[in-house]
Amino acid sequence: MAGKIRIALAPGDGIGPEITRACLHIFQAAGVLDHIEFTEVQMGQSVFATGETRGMSDEAIEIIEETGILYKGPMGTPIGGGGKSINVTLRKTFGAFANLRHFQTLPGVETVYSRAGVPVDFYVVRENVEDTYGGIEHRVTPDSYVAKRLITTPGCDQICKFAFETAESFGIDRVTCGHKANIMKMTDGTFLDRFRFISQDFPQIETEDVIIDALCMNLVLRPDKYKMIVLTNLQGDIVSDLAAGLVGGLGFAPSANIGDQISIFEAVHGTAPDIANKDLANPTSLLLSGLIMLRHIGMRKSAAIIENSLLHTLESGVHTGDVKGDGEPVGTMAFAEAIASNLGKSPSTIDGCAVPPNDEPSHTPPVRPSVNEMMVTNEQVKSVVCGCDLFLETTLTPLDLAAKLQRICESTPFKLTVISNRGTQVWPVGSPYTEIVNESCVRFELKEGSVIGQGPTVHLLAKVAEKFSVTDFIPIKMYDGVRGFSLAQGQ
Ligand code: NAD
Repeated sequence: MAGKIRIALAPGDGIGPEITRACLHIFQAAGVLDHIEFTEVQMGQSVFATGETRGMSDEAIEIIEETGILYKGPMGTPIGGGGKSINVTLRKTFGAFANLRHFQTLPGVETVYSRAGVPVDFYVVRENVEDTYGGIEHRVTPDSYVAKRLITTPGCDQICKFAFETAESFGIDRVTCGHKANIMKMTDGTFLDRFRFISQDFPQIETEDVIIDALCMNLVLRPDKYKMIVLTNLQGDIVSDLAAGLVGGLGFAPSANIGDQISIFEAVHGTAPDIANKDLANPTSLLLSGLIMLRHIGMRKSAAIIENSLLHTLESGVHTGDVKGDGEPVGTMAFAEAIASNLGKSPSTIDGCAVPPNDEPSHTPPVRPSVNEMMVTNEQVKSVVCGCDLFLETTLTPLDLAAKLQRICESTPFKLTVISNRGTQVWPVGSPYTEIVNESCVRFELKEGSVIGQGPTVHLLAKVAEKFSVTDFIPIKMYDGVRGFSLAQGQ
């Protein structure tokens, strides 16, 4: 098989095997399998059932690491029992930091926008690894739960660079950054800053930024205004599904998870257990994900031919049962056969894809790193500890709490500067209308001068912990003279 590109194939659970068979049938008919060799790997429910909580065998991991590409069907996550979502595990384990999805009006797929003659055709680039998806959560008091939202400068740079590079290679001339930097000034603010910084390397691409809530409204009002949107993980997750709704649902939304070494191409819908093994499933999402995969390995000609055939087939009224349309629906395999027999044809009511003269298949399999790569951006920035935030479980009133804490810090280099509750200032000033819970954040800042390192804040923590239940401790710092902590609401 020398010369063929090896790709790991995981058909998945539920409808996964049926839609995978359908896609392979189309790939076979299009001659794609002359250049690709699929190696099937064990993943999903059958593996979870053996007690393997990752949901994939060691052999599967080995093959994915060797090939660098995984084409996968949907997989079920067992509810309870400690098994984590295999999809999230895969993206994070293999460093597939960018999620790329394409949302386009498909002929024959009736939506509010198709009826109104509003064409939808845009990409969403979602950061895939950071944000709340670390799943770092704690119950810190009987009443309070906290999730860590981690946004890093290297993570932002990586995803923004990916968005601009992808826009450049797809001939897209405008990239929009969606964010909530007006509220989350440090996390989303950094995402927006880095978007603007990275954009300087792509002067030919127009940029705009929009607050996430306004973006959602604009997407519903005027989806045709957008070409590519780059977002942090959770916001990107929500906007991706909103966007899928604009073009007819998840059955039409392809997804690629791209990393520097390993990439995963998957259908975004689930295993659809209600229709599994009934020849009813729509293979379009998995097929479109496969087309992003073909383009990823330089097979742009084959991808364009298959995409044109899919568009022609849908346009001619052939569709599966989940699609609103005229005429009787066909089964999964009959739909695939129709696409295979239409290869070479293009849609007539919308523009088809331009077909490049040649495929240029190429793929460099991963080189296994000997150690984890450390990504550092702001190496030169100097940080100075100027105090600490302590989170305390307490039912004391803000006034009583302040009095106790002031006594505790009397003989330390710190003074109490603010108490906040659920992010709102309640001391030294506050409103009696602010409802509070039994967890407060108390901020201590240096009385004067500076301390060396975080040692003195740890001593203060120990003193406070003698009297209070501490739920969190965070040294607060200045970075090259710039405050590295937010102010409380009302401060
Ligand atoms: P689902 O996407 O499987 O199904 C939702 C509805 O959409 C169902 O009515 C289903 O019949 C229909 N549907 C989905 N895909 C279809 C297709 N290709 N053709 C026709 N109809 C389709 O969502 P769910 O029911 O919430 O989840 C079922 C299982 O899938 C769960 O175990 C969940 O964890 C898993 N899941 C996996 C992935 C993934 O592997 N990427 C994504 C989402 C959910």
